[in-house]
Amino acid sequence: MDRNFMSGFVACLFSGPECNTEESVISFSTGLIDLHSHSTASDGILSPEALVSRAADYGVSCLALTDHDTLAGLDEARQAASARGMTLVNGIELSVQHEKREFHVLGLWLDTECEALRARVAAQQAARVERAREIGRRLDRAAGLANTYEHTCELAGTDAPGRPLFARYLEQAGRVRNQRHAFNRFLKQGQSAFVATPWCSMKEAIDDIHAAGGTAVLAHPHAYGLTRKKLRHFLGAFKEAGGDGLEVAMPGLTRQQSELLDECWQHFDLQVSAGSDFHSPEQKWLALGRLPPIPSGATPVWEGRLTSMNS
Ligand SMILES: [Zn+2]
Ligand SMILES: [Zn+2]
Repeated sequence: MDRNFMSGFVACLFSGPECNTEESVISFSTGLIDLHSHSTASDGILSPEALVSRAADYGVSCLALTDHDTLAGLDEARQAASARGMTLVNGIELSVQHEKREFHVLGLWLDTECEALRARVAAQQAARVERAREIGRRLDRAAGLANTYEHTCELAGTDAPGRPLFARYLEQAGRVRNQRHAFNRFLKQGQSAFVATPWCSMKEAIDDIHAAGGTAVLAHPHAYGLTRKKLRHFLGAFKEAGGDGLEVAMPGLTRQQSELLDECWQHFDLQVSAGSDFHSPEQKWLALGRLPPIPSGATPVWEGRLTSMNS
């Protein structure tokens, strides 16, 4: 969901002796990993190139670009990464629908030429564009504006802007005090400009990620507002559908959330991942390269991938 614009997480991943406290900076010669980030190819603020440069400046040596339902930023990011001596992991964050809720599944280490994946991305993009057009039409009426969709596209540099970008446009247009106000007044579920999108099923997303040789990871499991019981119910279905991993290493989790995620990866025998979900330098609470260690005993999603990443 676009809400992760407001709840970023960072992650690193080589836990070790320097990584013994929750917010420690890990300084391995291999550098840091961040397996969840966004660029202007979806709802991030930085271009793929600027994102990669910033990650390099923060000591990240392996970055996954995981834009929402698009692979469009990956070529630029890969070039920038090779110029900085970094490894780029081809990623995506697919929106899926499961029991009338939206969840986000990360695909990591993707073959971007995979036909099934490319067809999925095209279908998801078409759904995104149609949703954005409908949000624009509704905001025109509800906020007394004209051509909100077109203006937001211009601001966003994409024809499928997500809700945070509509919120920015509403703020710029002086219709709301700030972006939070935009969500509460117009954009969140139950308000006049909320539009649900017919995303693919969880199984379809996982199958396509696997077809592309990738690893399927449930993004920000704590951010869906699920009770412990409902999260476990969902994860049962995720595992059943072939899901591989759970994002667990993120700064800013409460002890209770960490404990629940710990319980979940163990119970469902899932690998673990970590990523900042970086969208914008304005996320002051989120610093690249500062992250909790992954839980001891867990299998990280990059195990077995590092060799090929470094070659
Ligand atoms: Zn997300
Ligand atoms: Zn994300």
